Amino acid sequence: MEIWRRAGDAMAVVVMKFGGTSVANVERIRNVANHVKREVDAGNKVAVVVSAMAGATNQLVAWVKEASLLHDAREYDAVVASGEQVTAGLLAIVLQSMGLTARSWQGWQIPILTNKAHGSARIADIPGERLRAHLDAGEVAVITGFQGLEPEANRIATLGRGGSDTSAVAIAVAVGADVCDIYTDVDGVYTTDPRIVPKARRLPKISYEEMLEMASLGSKVLQTRSVELAMVRKMPVRVLSSFVAPDAMAPYRPDQLEDIGTIVCDEEDIVETQVVSGIAYAKDEAKITILKVEDKPGVAARIFVPLAEAGINVDMIVQNVTPDGKSTDMTFTVQASELPRALAALKQVQSDIGYLDIKSSADVAKISVIGIGMRSHAGVAARMFKALSEKGINILAISTSEIKISVLIEDAYAELAVRTLHALYGLDAE
Ligand code: ASP
Ligand code: MG
Repeated sequence: MEIWRRAGDAMAVVVMKFGGTSVANVERIRNVANHVKREVDAGNKVAVVVSAMAGATNQLVAWVKEASLLHDAREYDAVVASGEQVTAGLLAIVLQSMGLTARSWQGWQIPILTNKAHGSARIADIPGERLRAHLDAGEVAVITGFQGLEPEANRIATLGRGGSDTSAVAIAVAVGADVCDIYTDVDGVYTTDPRIVPKARRLPKISYEEMLEMASLGSKVLQTRSVELAMVRKMPVRVLSSFVAPDAMAPYRPDQLEDIGTIVCDEEDIVETQVVSGIAYAKDEAKITILKVEDKPGVAARIFVPLAEAGINVDMIVQNVTPDGKSTDMTFTVQASELPRALAALKQVQSDIGYLDIKSSADVAKISVIGIGMRSHAGVAARMFKALSEKGINILAISTSEIKISVLIEDAYAELAVRTLHALYGLDAE
């Protein structure tokens, strides 16, 4: 991919991405067209990336499964890529009917080149020059998200569920856009889930790294891969709501960024950093405890290698050595949906590992506090553990990174824990 920005360009190049709920029917597509028109009228050059109508991709996937559970991944892609083709064409039609010059483009036409991993392909390259020439000529380019072209076999490939965010960032990089605006059904990224904490606040800015943690912890606002790509290519991403009236929003201006939505950007561009920026929670965790494993070199490998070979991701790990020092209990977490497979894999190697028993529970939740400020502030974890203990919440496991502390607790306490920590780190709105 190539970034090319022309010196002296007066107008901004804006990529606008609209998710499934924003294009759920023709009336909403008309609303999207009005958001696009606002940008064009202000003199911006616009490329639009669209998802399929809400529910459409699910329906397509269901049809494929009904046709055959053991289907060819290339034909899966041929079917599920069609949702975006519909919305791109419809939006181009509506834009034309409003007097704008617009043209739809599918992944293979750009082309958005991918690798061979059908169903969860990665974008390899997007030659952006031709697309940019269309924008420079005053044309709105409406591009199908989620899909691209695997050039060797000359076949359509899709990027994995939620992949149109990544399409949008990649297109933004390819045309040298000033910003990639992701329009969705929320008006930004919040300090935590507002359904749990009504005092949650919209974050005007958040760093790529914090957003990555939020995304991988279940905040569904942006696909993780799109944030990774934006971070590597330093593409600023804004999260905006398409449900704000198109004329109530100011068009993109490089100097007026912070009034609406959330800007996901480099941490150097964030002047006032909080120690903690957000609290995330994930309820789809499950805990496995392997009881009484011999405590000697090589046991961890014998437990975790078979899991890795089965493609199961292990997250938090705690080891408790028994008082006699001879054996240990090993507790760790996996995705709740992977629990049956994880247990099966471990039972198979029971005699090899030599453990007494396995216990498991899916009634657990992972609560995380996230903030780049943690790098330079001590005591964040200590305050967290103290606050949770004062509420009588027991911590089952802990894991940390440079900018995140996660604790595993019982499911029933998840909301209390989120509320407690949100207040503790001063995130509650006045
Ligand atoms: N339509 C695709 C999906 O539902 C891609 C996307 O919306 O990002 O996963
Ligand atoms: Mg999405």
